[in-house]
Amino acid sequence: MPQGSFDPFDWIDEQAAVRAKAGLVRTLRPRPAESARLDLASNDYLGLTHRPEVTAAAAEAARRWGAGATGSRLVTGSTRLHADLERELADFCGFEAALVLSSGYAANLAALTALSGHGSVIVSDALNHASIVDGCRLSRATTAVVPHADPDAVRKALDAHDGRALAVTDSVFSVDGDAAPLPELAAACRAYGAALLVDDAHGLGVLGEGGRGALNAAGLAGADGVVATLTLSKSLGSQGGAVLGPARVIDHLVNTARTFIFDTGLAPAAAGAALASARLLRREPELAARARTVAASLHRGLTDAGLTAVRPDAAVVSVLSPSPGEAVRWAADCREAGLVVGCFRPPSVPDGVSRLRLTARADLTDAQVGEAVATIVRTAPTAAF
Ligand code: PMP
Repeated sequence: MPQGSFDPFDWIDEQAAVRAKAGLVRTLRPRPAESARLDLASNDYLGLTHRPEVTAAAAEAARRWGAGATGSRLVTGSTRLHADLERELADFCGFEAALVLSSGYAANLAALTALSGHGSVIVSDALNHASIVDGCRLSRATTAVVPHADPDAVRKALDAHDGRALAVTDSVFSVDGDAAPLPELAAACRAYGAALLVDDAHGLGVLGEGGRGALNAAGLAGADGVVATLTLSKSLGSQGGAVLGPARVIDHLVNTARTFIFDTGLAPAAAGAALASARLLRREPELAARARTVAASLHRGLTDAGLTAVRPDAAVVSVLSPSPGEAVRWAADCREAGLVVGCFRPPSVPDGVSRLRLTARADLTDAQVGEAVATIVRTAPTAAF
């Protein structure tokens, strides 16, 4: 039946009103190209995104191969740069083979959908990244969500299911910055013949020997049954993602992973930049240790002042706020004072644990770290101490 005045989007206004009332509206704020601000919000952990070697490699790749990949990887979207980057990532991180995709998000969807499916089980940490949650849903596997960082719960979930199984975890959790118990998870997977998939988005460039990642740090790089996903957009300062693992797993993804097959390949500029960053990491292995030192200094400065901050296992430092509203005000006051910090509140984090999220960067000086701590402490809500 035709209806007089019909607005198919009126429900959006209702939702927006609820969000506004709860103080949870999100807005886009363009980042100035040249910023005098102190940035502790970006994921550019090693400060590579503006390194001349990296931007020059991006520009050269665009000139040589074009501004876009021109097609999916299996048609026209694979260049020599993509192959070189795959070899470099696999060798650097200690895996047999690698496959580069257009984002870390796509890499997680690819790995989860290709390595599981109807009739199999995925055991997933309750605090895993949204791209893992979505990958589990897309895979059509039965997903058992287990309490955070709990290898015994993983064992129990694996024990309760027959057939093909895979456990999946972030290596470093993106909000709290704590590390997963990888050796214990790997032992649980081995005991039950399950694969272990580790999203090393926040470990690459920060953990392991010279930044070779969390699996290198845990002695699990290239181990039987272990697959890793990466993003090229954090410590490598570029854009894109990758899956690392045994060659037969990578070949399987090339043939079956829909976010690889049906997606346009990574832009040559991004591939060139990521390759330059990975090579730079080999030449400057001290960068990873510096990022960890900066994280430890930030944490020490904040907790010495009486704030509650999660002890960082990598480069993410999380500072608790008494409420979502205070977190927003706190971050805005920091911004006003020239310091950019992340602000996490529902729905990104559960109710009651809103926080500022700081990222340590290898290129921050000790003076900048001191300045950041002073600003955060000065603008902190009284109830945060
Ligand atoms: N996994 C984790 C843990 C992440 O933090 C992110 C980025 N927010 C991703 C995957 C997605 O990576 P990308 O941004 O390259 O899509």
